[in-house]
Amino acid sequence: MKSNEILVSGAGIAGTALAYWLRKAGFAVTIVERAPEPRPGGQTVDLRGAGRTVVERMGLMDRVKAVTVDQRGLALVDRKGRITVRVPADSFGGEGIVSEIEILRGDLARLLYEATLPDTEYLFDDTITGIDQETDPEAVTVTFEKAPPRRFALVVGADGTHSVVRSLAFGAERDLAHPIGLYTAWFTALDDDLDLDGWYLMHNAPGGLVASARPGRLPGEVKAGFSFRSPPLTYDRRDVAAQREIVARRFADVGWEAPRLLRAMRTAPDFFFETMAQVRLDSWSRGRVALLGDAGYCATPLTGLGTSLALVGAYVLAGELAAAGGAYETAFRRYDTVMRPYVTKAQELPPGGAAGFAPTGRFGIRMRDLSMRAMTRRPMRAVLAAQFAKAGDIALPDYGPAEARPLGAARTGR
Ligand SMILES: Cc1cc2nc3c(=O)[nH]c(=O)nc-3n(C[C@H](O)[C@H](O)[C@H](O)COP(=O)(O)OP(=O)(O)OC[C@H]3O[C@@H](n4cnc5c(N)ncnc54)[C@H](O)[C@@H]3O)c2cc1C
Repeated sequence: MKSNEILVSGAGIAGTALAYWLRKAGFAVTIVERAPEPRPGGQTVDLRGAGRTVVERMGLMDRVKAVTVDQRGLALVDRKGRITVRVPADSFGGEGIVSEIEILRGDLARLLYEATLPDTEYLFDDTITGIDQETDPEAVTVTFEKAPPRRFALVVGADGTHSVVRSLAFGAERDLAHPIGLYTAWFTALDDDLDLDGWYLMHNAPGGLVASARPGRLPGEVKAGFSFRSPPLTYDRRDVAAQREIVARRFADVGWEAPRLLRAMRTAPDFFFETMAQVRLDSWSRGRVALLGDAGYCATPLTGLGTSLALVGAYVLAGELAAAGGAYETAFRRYDTVMRPYVTKAQELPPGGAAGFAPTGRFGIRMRDLSMRAMTRRPMRAVLAAQFAKAGDIALPDYGPAEARPLGAARTGR
């Protein structure tokens, strides 16, 4: 083992962004990813505030802009497809529900992955099964499902809301990931006849059901979403057929374009089903293991801030590790200090929370329409604008050039 070797679990947004910055500072990085390749899929995610600044500092903004998705805004539709409310993209100066820079999550993940090549080692189609910090005080010994055991100086869990690193090093998922009572499925539908006219269309149905369709980047590509309110469900996270069935049953009687989206869901190769849960921990490190992005502080897609948190967290964690000159404990403490206020604010759900997003009754849906309409006008506009302004609510440190040193406990700078 080299003394500056870091293992990252998860090649999503946070993991690849971290690898980018760590490599730049001279650390050796290995990423283990459960999927066989960078995971495609997801709807558009917003590059806002400090998240956008991090992408600019990576020098990737031109490449991002080359693949952004043009959207006119969000429009609510009734069961017959009639638009009831429009929230144009420019109604919040490009920083609203649909932001100025909207990029497909899969495109962003792929772009970040490419930026880490060729000098990041990837172990695809594998996962960590054990983390041992006791046997060797100078290293973490990691076992994998497929690869042979290896020692690393540090391990970072960037493996999403249901992080395996978190459950191995920090404790049970049920104590740390707090469901907000919403499930979501995302997938791509190929449908030339579904004309969205550039709008992100959303239909609320009684029972706390929300069906949505947003334009993709390619002609005929529709990024579909189905969300529903529910207490915790028991299902096998690897059984995708069973997950499709859960969604199909919930949305069987929903109007608008839900039936054709459900048909497309049956065969969509990038179908992704997720519990919305907030991850809350008092500390994001245990010894030589740290957490990043959704694994450490998932805010849920309802906040629209998950991508910014992942990008900013990666920048700060790598910057602090480089700045601490090898003293990882100092770096982890600084990472916590810099990120904590940003994360705490981001985790405050927008007004109404899950119930506001997916009301259960017809009256609630009418109220949601009314409040959404009011949100586009003064004085209510300020309420929604404040939610998205949180993305910029951090003074990003400027770490400058730094050199990776051997990673030891409190060697320097404590
Ligand atoms: C397929 C997919 C689609 C998404 N779609 C949307 C969307 O439409 N809108 C939205 O707001 N958010 C979406 N998200 C969540 C969003 O990407 C994150 O909230 C945010 O970008 C923070 O990124 P992250 O890297 O922390 O987590 P993620 O982007 O979730 O990345 C985590 C990565 O870890 C991998 N992983 C998980 N478990 C293991 C394991 N045991 N071993 C190794 N690797 C593991 C996953 O495969 C994934 O690549 C999606 C996530 C995924 C994975």
